[in-house]
Amino acid sequence: MRSRDSFKRAAQLLCEAESLLIVPHLHPDGDALGSALGLYHALKQMGKPVVEVVSHDSVPEIYRFLPDWQAIHLEHPHQTTYDLAVVVDQSQLSRAGKHEPLVRAARRILQIDHHMPLEQFADVRIVDTEAAATAELVYRLLRSMRVRMTPEVATCLLTGIVTDTFSFKFPNTTPRTLRIAAALQQAGADLSYISEQVFETRSFSAVKLLGLALSTLQRTSDGKIAWITIPRRAFEESHAHEEETEGIVNFVRSVRGVELAMMLRESPKGKIRVSLRSRGKVNVALLAQQFGGGGHENAAGCTLETSLAEAEMILVREAQRWMESST
Ligand code: AMP
Ligand code: MN
Ligand code: MN
Repeated sequence: MRSRDSFKRAAQLLCEAESLLIVPHLHPDGDALGSALGLYHALKQMGKPVVEVVSHDSVPEIYRFLPDWQAIHLEHPHQTTYDLAVVVDQSQLSRAGKHEPLVRAARRILQIDHHMPLEQFADVRIVDTEAAATAELVYRLLRSMRVRMTPEVATCLLTGIVTDTFSFKFPNTTPRTLRIAAALQQAGADLSYISEQVFETRSFSAVKLLGLALSTLQRTSDGKIAWITIPRRAFEESHAHEEETEGIVNFVRSVRGVELAMMLRESPKGKIRVSLRSRGKVNVALLAQQFGGGGHENAAGCTLETSLAEAEMILVREAQRWMESST
């Protein structure tokens, strides 16, 4: 389907639906939350009788400045069959977590996403891997519907863009990204306030955890792969939450000579969650896919069900193989 057609069909679905469910991904980040809440505000403004946002995980502290973040519920809301489920920022429905059945039960599913496509689960898809953030696509969709950009909508969407471009520093930032960001700023989003909230405000515990995490830094002898590990006891010692590891992997990637950076953290349920980042041509989404994960060329993730030490061994070995084959 041509992109113009999918925007048209998506707009039609949004206009027709009376009850809507919006679902960000597991462990939601600024793009998942900003896209979901931006859409929520826009649909409320359009006068939709039922608009609900459900998330598998709670809203991380750093995103609790988003207007109406409390509208994001963790538990099953009242309605069980929605006219439309809008799934944002995810390429696999399993990323909806416990809300996957609720999405499947909806009369129609709309997917808005910018990851490498993995699974076809939606009736209508707005999927563009060239978009820096899902929030960009939400913006374009709302514009095509001539929805008014209120400061609330603009704040949510700009947060999505700022998070996924790492403040316009990542190579996914395009002229279009900047034009959309400018329009959102014009519509009332405060860029410096958003950046301050997302990147420059941390809890005491989170900064303690950062120290513990960075003290485990290692690299391969050629210096191209570097990684850190965060065992359970680091969380206990620092009193930090798992969500507070967001962004730490960028320090690993920043080491001169590093082309592939990894952060392995031990989740409460004994799972190892892995964040992968790369510089240049190394495609980490494909590496993550080998372990059932996914993401983008330069930022991806996966989950392993092994011990931390085992995961470290497996990943370093695979990453080395991967580097050799991609260079
Ligand atoms: P993170 O390292 O958690 O910030 O994630 C980086 C990117 O990879 C994001 O776009 C995530 O949506 C994606 N991602 C992370 N973990 C997974 C996973 N287990 N499966 C699929 N995609 C993932
Ligand atoms: Mn995301
Ligand atoms: Mn995203």
